[in-house]
Amino acid sequence: MTVRLDDVGPLKPILAQRPFGLATDIDGTLSPIVDTPDAAAVTPLCRRYLGEIAQRVEVVAAISGRAPEVARRMVGLEGLVYVGNHGLSWWKQGREETLAEAAPYEAMIQEAKRKLAAHFHLPGVLLEDKGPILAFHYRMCADAQTARAAIMEALAPWEAQGLRVRPGRRVFELGPPLDVHKGTALVHLMETYRLAGVLYLGDDLTDVDAFRVLRRWRQDARVKGAAVAVANSEAGQEITKEADYWVDGVPGVEWLLGEIASVVGGKRP
Ligand SMILES: [Mg+2]
Repeated sequence: MTVRLDDVGPLKPILAQRPFGLATDIDGTLSPIVDTPDAAAVTPLCRRYLGEIAQRVEVVAAISGRAPEVARRMVGLEGLVYVGNHGLSWWKQGREETLAEAAPYEAMIQEAKRKLAAHFHLPGVLLEDKGPILAFHYRMCADAQTARAAIMEALAPWEAQGLRVRPGRRVFELGPPLDVHKGTALVHLMETYRLAGVLYLGDDLTDVDAFRVLRRWRQDARVKGAAVAVANSEAGQEITKEADYWVDGVPGVEWLLGEIASVVGGKRP
């Protein structure tokens, strides 16, 4: 049973660990969901508290489905780790780097992007080229069910050729069929920073991979940590039940980050 978090007390034993890392999704977690991806913005309170936390702990990472450069621009803070495309692309030394495992699929993805951009037209569906991933946003479609069916039909041949189709909140994504996701990104962070304590925040299906990895690492006593789901009506119970705690929407995240900032504020690592 996932517990609603309305007191930071239960997280204090995790926040006391060093090295400590906070990893968070962006859209729907730090920024309210809006009609088009371009219009999304991280709230000033989330940015302020994340900045404060980043001054005090070993690592704060934004792990997003966005391209890393976009993630970085949205959060707008220096000194964070920016991971994009659900773990496939990382912001490193001033530029985006995509994992080498994706290279064999690059040509097929470029071909899919060209053909789908030329031939797939459905009013309200927005195509977003994120480098190794092509996203189909259908939030603007009046009839979500019809949009979903049309997108799935368009993507089916590419899936049959070996690419992967991944659903999210009013989005489908076409990308390389790799075992790379937010959970593998979190593992990379935990290993790189040798984290003893970890909190992960997210609102979507793609965040569940990170929730599960964190649970497994905790069960194996490799880390003290907790997954916090950001409850929302679209993603529903499926996400929340995979986490340890939940908060209500972006305002719940603002509250939680403020609490974390004040808990870690007194101690410099
Ligand atoms: Mg999200």
